[in-house]
Amino acid sequence: MEESADSFDSAFTKAVDLGNKLAGTDKEADLWDIADGLLAGAVQYWLYSRQPCGEARCEDCMPISTADARLAELQRLVRQLATESEYFHAPTDANAGRA
Ligand SMILES: [Zn+2]
Repeated sequence: MEESADSFDSAFTKAVDLGNKLAGTDKEADLWDIADGLLAGAVQYWLYSRQPCGEARCEDCMPISTADARLAELQRLVRQLATESEYFHAPTDANAGRA
């Protein structure tokens, strides 16, 4: 389990570092384009990693056994990661309280 956390932290850190590196290399680059590209690559890799093993009634693969099931699992994970992010709420949010 610790190895799994290490892999997660390493991939997370490297993805953020890559975004910063791409933005630093090309000063004209649009941060939104870089972020969208990183997200597209992450989605591609995630879907690649979640291909069912093919064994009938495999319990591990049950939540990702169809394209719709994989999309639902991906959306659940994205929502969880977004709401846990330190950047989920911004002080400049239109609905942020003003004192
Ligand atoms: Zn399986």
